[in-house]
Amino acid sequence: VIEIRDLHKAYGALEVIKGVDIVARRGDVVSLIGSSGSGKSTILRCANLLEDSQQGDILFKGEPVKWRGTGHGRHPADPAQVLRIRTNLSMVFQQFNLWAHMTILQNVMEAPVTVLGRPRAEVEKAARAYLDKVGIADKADAFPAQLSGGQQQRAAIARALAMEPEALLFDEPTSALDPELEQEVVKVIKALAEEGRTMLVVTHDMRMAADISNHVVFLHEGRIEEQGPPDSIFGSPQTERLKGFLSATL
Ligand code: ATP
Ligand code: MG
Repeated sequence: VIEIRDLHKAYGALEVIKGVDIVARRGDVVSLIGSSGSGKSTILRCANLLEDSQQGDILFKGEPVKWRGTGHGRHPADPAQVLRIRTNLSMVFQQFNLWAHMTILQNVMEAPVTVLGRPRAEVEKAARAYLDKVGIADKADAFPAQLSGGQQQRAAIARALAMEPEALLFDEPTSALDPELEQEVVKVIKALAEEGRTMLVVTHDMRMAADISNHVVFLHEGRIEEQGPPDSIFGSPQTERLKGFLSATL
């Protein structure tokens, strides 16, 4: 579903992604781990074209992103393609980014109605089903401020699901939460993984990465230092850097 090929990204002169390849096929759950600043969030933002990149290809369902210009002047060429990719790769952020002035139900319904132009009645029915799926059906008419952090994050996940995307991108979905609330969100993400949804998950939570992924990518300073199935990444890390990273995070 998503292929990233030889991705390079710099902020001005600061090169932060130095030739990264990541592939998520249908049903894959790929976790990105690595120290702060290693480039995990940047890769997700490049993948759904929230950020430009200077070199390399990004393919969505086999279709390469069309670019115009080169280097720092390289931008996606086709706005319709950008919209198609972005609506199909729903992102869930660390800070839930719910709209404070809308109820939870309105938050979940907003994009399918305004971006996809789907009929309200049909969207509402689906939205309620997604809220039920993440266990907060009873909060449909509450405002975000009336929910706990874990409930807000589950609402953000329902909102991402309501777009019926090809894949979900998670950027540290549990790191803003207290440990008790974290588990309820991990449970939801795990259930999505078991459903066979395609996901790219940036996380500090090694337990979750081991639980949900079929592939784990360890990044170091903008490069892939080591990657593989969770058993080998967590059970028999090969590189000194990964060994060091894991012993520091456990
Ligand atoms: P964390 O675990 O702390 O979230 P990360 O692996 O997600 O880290 P990124 O946010 O991708 O790291 O950042 C990679 C590098 O790019 C860092 O050195 C960061 O300082 C830099 N960077 C990120 N965003 C910007 C920006 N908008 N302008 C300049 N530099 C940036
Ligand atoms: Mg980050």
